[in-house]
Amino acid sequence: AKALGRNRSCIYSQELSAHKSSQLSLEQDLRDAVENEEFSLEFQGQFRPGERIPRRVETLIRWPHELRGQVSPHEFIPLAESSGLIRELGFWVLRRACAEFMSWRQQGMKLEKIAVNVSAMQINSRFAETVETIMKETGFEPAWLELEVTESLMMSGMTEVNNQIHQLRALGVEFSIDDFGTGYSSLSKLKEMPVSVLKIDRSFVRNIHDQENDYEIARAIVAMADSLNIEVVAEGVENEEQGETLRHLGCEWLQGYLYGRPMAADDFLRHYS
Ligand code: C2E
Ligand code: CA
Ligand code: CA
Ligand code: CA
Repeated sequence: AKALGRNRSCIYSQELSAHKSSQLSLEQDLRDAVENEEFSLEFQGQFRPGERIPRRVETLIRWPHELRGQVSPHEFIPLAESSGLIRELGFWVLRRACAEFMSWRQQGMKLEKIAVNVSAMQINSRFAETVETIMKETGFEPAWLELEVTESLMMSGMTEVNNQIHQLRALGVEFSIDDFGTGYSSLSKLKEMPVSVLKIDRSFVRNIHDQENDYEIARAIVAMADSLNIEVVAEGVENEEQGETLRHLGCEWLQGYLYGRPMAADDFLRHYS
């Protein structure tokens, strides 16, 4: 039994170190990819119920790795956060997103806003200033930008975070809370936050038409948002039943494969104009 035990822990530590070294090499690859700008962006529409052309769009990063294939943002964003690379990467995403948006508008698309995901790790004392510089460089108006942040970032209570958010709000940039319902927002705090949009997490949308709990949660989010003058986006809408239920609840925006998959900038333009 002893020998077996030792064997097991040996296998375990081998697996662990294999995991560690693959993470390390992925981090090195990520570093190179940031330096060489090996990323691309995809865009997914947000639709008013019943409309087929999106008025808003969310930016999603892609990393086509030459050996590993597409690496999921769920895998590399945490690594970019822990390594500090997220700051440079985040500004690259923002710069590209603003530029694509400008180009779509110049080609006649009538988009109101573009949303960009922002991690907590990106926010330091120079965040707002750099965002402002990027908007100026691309001729992009602050009112066209929406930054998607998490509940925990919005609710952190950190002075620096609040400063940066208020600085951007003063310019006209709006904020939405991503994956809403999965964190620990208190309603009283939400009331004080400069938030324009709540995004109902996909986990509540998935079974909304046949799970009473999920339906009630979505209903409560829409009702609460309504009373606070905040709009709601439902994410991950994949079928008609989900879409109809959300529309019936009074959800203002719908996003998901049912309405449009994320696509490259030129496909987005061709598809919707
Ligand atoms: P998220 O912000 O919650 O984005 C929604 C995710 O759901 C995206 O996955 C999108 O492709 C996917 N999706 C959209 N519609 C549907 C649907 O109908 N069904 C299903 N099953 N999925 C749908 P993606 O692109 O893999 O991104 C994963 C996460 O990575 C994002 O979740 C976001 O947290 C993060 N992320 C993506 N791009 C960026 C970025 O530029 N910066 C930062 N900081 N994070 C990003
Ligand atoms: Ca998002
Ligand atoms: Ca989300
Ligand atoms: Ca999510």
